[in-house]
Amino acid sequence: MSLSNLSFVKSWVSIPANSDFPLQNLPFGVFKTENEKERVGVRIGDFVVDLKALYILGYLENLPFELSDFDAIVLNLMMKKGKKSVRELRNRLLKLLDNQHQSLQKNEHHVSQVLIPIEQVTMCMPIQIGDYTDFYSSREHATNVGMMFRDPANALLPNWLWIPVGYHGRASSIILSGQNIHRPKGQIKPDPNSNPIYAPCRNLDFELETAFITFDGKALGESISTEEAEEYIFGMCLLNDWSARDIQTWEYVPLGPFLAKNFASSISPWIVTLDALEPFRCESPKQEPEVLDYLKFKGEKSFDIQLEVSILTPNGLEQNIAKSNFKYLYWNMSQQLAHHTVNGCNIRCGDLMGSGTISGPTPDSYGSMLELAWKGSKPIPFSDGTERKFLLDYDTLIIKGFAEKDKLRIGFGEVRNKILPAL
Ligand code: CA
Repeated sequence: MSLSNLSFVKSWVSIPANSDFPLQNLPFGVFKTENEKERVGVRIGDFVVDLKALYILGYLENLPFELSDFDAIVLNLMMKKGKKSVRELRNRLLKLLDNQHQSLQKNEHHVSQVLIPIEQVTMCMPIQIGDYTDFYSSREHATNVGMMFRDPANALLPNWLWIPVGYHGRASSIILSGQNIHRPKGQIKPDPNSNPIYAPCRNLDFELETAFITFDGKALGESISTEEAEEYIFGMCLLNDWSARDIQTWEYVPLGPFLAKNFASSISPWIVTLDALEPFRCESPKQEPEVLDYLKFKGEKSFDIQLEVSILTPNGLEQNIAKSNFKYLYWNMSQQLAHHTVNGCNIRCGDLMGSGTISGPTPDSYGSMLELAWKGSKPIPFSDGTERKFLLDYDTLIIKGFAEKDKLRIGFGEVRNKILPAL
């Protein structure tokens, strides 16, 4: 089935209008139900397709997968089979769920075992994440932060236009959408003329990001080129890279973020494949000065993905605070991966690579409270009468993402987490 024709194909599964999850999406995730433990599924409309059940019933025959790849608490075993195999699996699922295809559709007994209504499932952390790297690839974000904390005239540091800047984060505290977090505590220095104090963070922030998840890469010492990079990318999800700005301000010199970042980062539960995003490829911003050879790339390597941030206040008001787009990123995923491995660093199945905060060109497209409220100087008014400089206890931060074109919508769902007071 060619990708260009795919947008007209319909499923026999009923899919609500405007769903993030049409037949053309089929994102992968891990779920459990009341009566059965974790297993692998794909999402379609308001159902999860149980791949373990599908395998047992014989619908996934002649594919390079075993029962244990789907009867698993994470996607890693399935992902170990690599891009080509996962693509074959996805193509089989597209066929089984296509209304022109009879085999599963006509077997009501099987359908009832394989299709599980979304309200009956609990989503689980989909990936055993080995390493977490976070980039800093939005020019607008880097410029805004540089203007606030350094010199407005030289907001971008000299290396930024040459290097997809990044740092190694922490995988142990990556959590799933739906899990509450506690306001972190740490060293802050509210009075610049006094000693630091140990206290709950006062400037708690979110960072609007996406992340990509890798297949196994090459051996230690070898590099992945921009041309090869997408062969090593399984898919993408939404990422909220929680940040404690006051802890960060005091601790970040000289080695960069540490406890301001590693208390939690949240991801959405469904991993959208690059194949599903194929119709939404677009150009990324022009890169000037010309990048070094190993960062050059051919073709369209960015994706037009709309991103929205809302806060659900303790009063029950949900208010949008930002709209941005993945396509604003200056450095694309292929460049990030090429840079990450150019020194011979190896990547492994299940590594998570954050995009960096995705800010757009206008003040309503900024990807953090730090920028939206401009370091606290422009509080954001809420229609329940409250205002925010940073995030408050019992706020719920919601990030949504979707790509939409020619009546085809490929969405990510959301990443949603509530902030509880410090422990
Ligand atoms: Ca970040």
